[in-house]
Amino acid sequence: MVSDRQPPTFPAFERVEDERRHRKQRLAAAFRLFGHFGFDEGAAGHITARDPELLDHFWVNPLGMNFKQIRVKDLLLVDARGEVVEGNWPLNGAAFAIHSRVHAARPDVVAAAHAHSVHGKAWSSLRRPLDPLTQDACAFYGDHAVFDDYSGVVLDLDEGRRIAAALGPHKAVILANHGLLTVGQTSVDEAAWWFITMERTCQAQLLAEAAGTPVSIDAAEAEKTAPKVGHPMVGWRQFQPLYDWIVEVQPGLLDE
Ligand SMILES: [Zn+2]
Repeated sequence: MVSDRQPPTFPAFERVEDERRHRKQRLAAAFRLFGHFGFDEGAAGHITARDPELLDHFWVNPLGMNFKQIRVKDLLLVDARGEVVEGNWPLNGAAFAIHSRVHAARPDVVAAAHAHSVHGKAWSSLRRPLDPLTQDACAFYGDHAVFDDYSGVVLDLDEGRRIAAALGPHKAVILANHGLLTVGQTSVDEAAWWFITMERTCQAQLLAEAAGTPVSIDAAEAEKTAPKVGHPMVGWRQFQPLYDWIVEVQPGLLDE
């Protein structure tokens, strides 16, 4: 017997409507996966996807809707001023303050993910970058930053601007005493994957440091490994098995 499945290929679109639908499907799936992995904390957390046509607009989760219940049709479209132009739920003010500035500062980025996942926020209190303790951790070697001036719930654009500045050209930033934020240049898939693997990388380092004195991969090896595990297309690829699984077990997420 031969598998009747096809290996995933990076999508290309002729019509912007198709690209928008695809992006929204990936976004809804990313929320379901974040819910599955326990990254939700009440109403906290947001993942955004830039609209493929209205480049200063983004799609985002409705404030207070459980990640595990989000469907394509629930997603909000938000304009550059923070007005909801599609959708009937309120918008999380912090989502706009942070993500609008990240999307503005990083035109190369399609999506951004932020949540208050347990290991990410525990690690963030140490206010240190992650070490290259494992092969997976090398995805972040030289490619993440620490934003270390926590000053309350992010509701003003200025704080969002400073977070975007701390992120710089990297794929991720650790928000001290708060949590993780990741971005994807190719896709929503990539931003979501970096978040998932960064959360686990924080968990791995917390475990290793609790057990003893971990030994890092040496700098030269980490540098060589970083592009192999941390390339944007690798991030996209790593997400595909998760997407295929969540859509099979929760097909309702695609409702539009
Ligand atoms: Zn937050």
